[in-house]
Amino acid sequence: MSAGAGAVIPPAATPPRATPSEATPSEATPSEATPSDATAQSDDDALVAGQAAARPDMARDDDVPVGEEWHSPLYAMACRQFARAADVLALDDEARTRLLEPRRSLVANFPVRMDSGDVVNFTGYRVQHTLTMGPTKGGLRFAPDLGFGECAALAMWMTWKCSLVGLPFGGAKGGVRCDPHSLSVGEMERITRRYATELLPVIGPNVDIPAPDMGTGEREMAWFYDTYSQSVGYAVPAVVTGKPVALGGTVGRQSATGLGVVFAIESAFADLGWSIEDRRFIVQGFGNVGSVVAHELHARGAKVLAVSDIRGAIANSHGLDIPAVMQWVAEHQYLEGFPEAEAVDGSAMLELPCDVLVPAAREEQITGANASALRCGLIVEAANGPTTTAADRILEDRGITVYPDVFVNAGGVIVSYFEWVQSHQKYSWEATEVRERLRMQMQQACLRVTGTSEQLKTDLRTAALASAISNVAEAAHLRAIYP
Ligand code: NAD
Repeated sequence: MSAGAGAVIPPAATPPRATPSEATPSEATPSEATPSDATAQSDDDALVAGQAAARPDMARDDDVPVGEEWHSPLYAMACRQFARAADVLALDDEARTRLLEPRRSLVANFPVRMDSGDVVNFTGYRVQHTLTMGPTKGGLRFAPDLGFGECAALAMWMTWKCSLVGLPFGGAKGGVRCDPHSLSVGEMERITRRYATELLPVIGPNVDIPAPDMGTGEREMAWFYDTYSQSVGYAVPAVVTGKPVALGGTVGRQSATGLGVVFAIESAFADLGWSIEDRRFIVQGFGNVGSVVAHELHARGAKVLAVSDIRGAIANSHGLDIPAVMQWVAEHQYLEGFPEAEAVDGSAMLELPCDVLVPAAREEQITGANASALRCGLIVEAANGPTTTAADRILEDRGITVYPDVFVNAGGVIVSYFEWVQSHQKYSWEATEVRERLRMQMQQACLRVTGTSEQLKTDLRTAALASAISNVAEAAHLRAIYP
C-alpha cells in the first residue's frame, strides 16, 4: 500500500462478510445450472467462499499485484471490471498499477459509551482510491457487515463515476461497522462524532468530502459537519455534502440519485426509441433511491409492477399505485401488508416478466445463479455493484443490456458536487437550476457511454469504465510521479 501525505494506518484484516443473496435457497444447484451458469457459478462461488485465493481472479489473470488486505468478493468484482476495461484500452502496466489499488486508507477501532453504560469498540474505515483528480468524495455507510474490501470497491467505483461525469474528484468510501437499526439516536450521534474525529487527519473541504450512503443521512452529515467545524474553530459547510438545507445543503440532494436514474432511463430510451409511458418496470429496494425511482416513473405513466424491500416484495400486474405505497411505507416503515397488491418473495420478484428491472437495493443481487432466469428486456443499475461479473457474462449472452451503475446512479454525486460548489461560494441555487443541470449532465454521460460503446465495440459497462479510466490515466500520466 502506498503512503501519501497524512496519516496512514495499517489496515486490519477484512472481517467475515455476509452475502445473503449468494446463499438464498432459491439458487440453482450446480447440477441444475446451464453450461454458462456452471462457469458463472464457479466463478462467483470461488470468490464468495473467499478461499482461494488470497487474491482476486483478476490479479492472477493479469498478474497485477493487488494487496491481500483488500480481498473481498466485491473488490474482486471491481478489479475484474477494471481489468476488462483496461484491456480494451490496452492500458500499460504502469498505469494499471497506479490506478488499481486504493491510494490511502484509514482503519480505526474506537470506543463508544452505549446508553446502557457499557463501552463497545467499533471499527471505522475510510478508503481514498485516487488523489490524482482533486479531493476525494464518497459516502459513509453504516452497516453490520461493512468491511475494508467493500469500501475499497465502492471507492474505486466512485473514482470512475466522478471521472465519467466530469467531476473534479477522486473516489472515496467509508463508514462504521454497526447496525444502525439497533442503535439509539444518542448512540448514533456518539459513533458518528467519534468516527469523524478519527478521520480528521484525512478529511477536509479540499481533501476528502463525505456524503450519506446506506445507514446514514442528513442527520449524520449535520453531526459530521459540526464535529469537523468544532475541531477547526469555524463553520466549514463544504466538508460534507447531503447536509440539511438549513445548514447549507442543497435543495434536491435527497432525491438526486433517484431522479438521476430516471434521467438516465429517459436518455437511454431516447436512444432506443422507447417511451416510458406504459412500460413495465420492477424496482428492487424501496429506500432513498428506489422509492424516488418508482415515484418518478409512475409520475411519467410507467407501470411499476413490483417493488421490494428487505422483508419481501409486493406486486400488482396492473401497476402499483406508488404514491399510495409511499404513504403506506411512511406509516408502516415496510412494504409488507400493503393492501392493493400481492405479497411476493423478494428473489422471485426479480424473475417476474418486465421491460426494465431496476436493482436499487444493494450489491451482488443479480448473480450467476439467477441471471439465466430473469425475464426483463433491460437492466438499469441504480444500486452500486448489483450485478456480478458472472451474471454480466450470462446477460450478455442472452442479449439483455445492462446500463451500468457508474453511469446510472451518478446523480447523487453530481448534486453533491453542486452542493460542494455552493458551500464554497456561500451561495445557493434554485431547485430548477439543480434539476436542469442534473438532467443535462446525465444526458451527456449517456451519450458518452453509448458513443464509447459503439466506438470500442464493447458492452456499456466496459465502455463507461474505459471512458472514465482513460481520463484518470491521462491525468496521472500528466502529473507524473512525485518526486
Ligand atoms: P437505503 O438504505 O435508503 O435503501 C435500501 C433499500 O433496499 C431499503 O428499502 C431496504 O429495505 C432494501 N433492501 C436491502 N436489502 C435488500 C434485499 N436483499 N432485497 C430487497 N431489498 C433490499 O439505501 P439507498 O440510499 O436507497 O441506496 C441503495 C443503493 O443505491 C445502494 O447500493 C447505494 O450504494 C446506492 N447509491 C445510493 C446513493 C444515494 O444517494 N443514496 C447514491 C449512489 C448509489
